[in-house]
Amino acid sequence: MWKVMMPRKIAFGDNAAKEFDYPKNSLVVTTTTPDIYEKWLDYMGIKDYEVYDKVTPDPSIESIEAVKKNYEGKKISAYIGLGGGSSMDVCKYLGKLTGVPKILIPTTFGTGAEMTTYAVISFEHKKKLLQDEAFLADTAIVDPYFLPGTPFNIMRNSACDAAAQASEGYDSKLSNPLTKLFCKEAFDVLEDAITNDKPHLLPYGAMLSGIGFGNSSTTLGHALSYVFSNEGVPHGYSLSSCTTVAHKFNKSIYYERFKKICNKLNFETLTLKQGFEDAADVIMPDRGHLDNNPLPVSRENIVHCLDEIINKNPLS
Ligand SMILES: [Zn+2]
Repeated sequence: MWKVMMPRKIAFGDNAAKEFDYPKNSLVVTTTTPDIYEKWLDYMGIKDYEVYDKVTPDPSIESIEAVKKNYEGKKISAYIGLGGGSSMDVCKYLGKLTGVPKILIPTTFGTGAEMTTYAVISFEHKKKLLQDEAFLADTAIVDPYFLPGTPFNIMRNSACDAAAQASEGYDSKLSNPLTKLFCKEAFDVLEDAITNDKPHLLPYGAMLSGIGFGNSSTTLGHALSYVFSNEGVPHGYSLSSCTTVAHKFNKSIYYERFKKICNKLNFETLTLKQGFEDAADVIMPDRGHLDNNPLPVSRENIVHCLDEIINKNPLS
């Protein structure tokens, strides 16, 4: 049996967030400041709503419980997660706790989080990746309106993440014909957006990638990348070299095309403070990614991949 899950309703493309009919008495949850989100809400034409703007990045379970308590008895009809991953994660978890429908509207693009059953929540100051069908959006709204103004560096890291997720998801052992369809189309759209300078296509590409990898998984490239994240390297940047080397190892059909995208985005090679053996100790237990890799990965393979990433200039 194969299974694919996605939000019940997906509104996307130009004016999607503007033309959507928002339910009355919604709670808008966002991490941004009034000078920014007031412009967004104005564009959306939403009326009769409340705003909760005290969400912090990497939201803790306590902060979510606090929002729940704050609005208890107020007959909130929908949570609207407006912003980056943290705003959406809070709504995903709130929706699971209360059963109130959630509308997810990303304003930064790349993770495809608006499409997935994943949420990152902190428990006792430790980030935890959770998965639950109840995290799935009732409605996802993907509108390129929110893209302009995104700093180039953030946009390039997000684009790389989306392309890495699409191509790793395509190769994943958990993939199926339908996830491959989404991943393949996602990569085609993202490649066109990046190589032909059509940034307005990035949100759609990231959305397709979210459906594709969200129903399969990412693999070796992501597993390798976290030792760099732990040293402060942005996620998308670390994937440029990690996923390229992983694709080479896996003999992925996306190896050359992914590398070309990274070159177009002008990524530099990575450095690593810790030794390869220490890094391998961190990477090997990441079975969630490694077990879904199309080829078995040994500790020796990991060390070899890290050597390629650091010493062999994989993007040349
Ligand atoms: Zn990723």
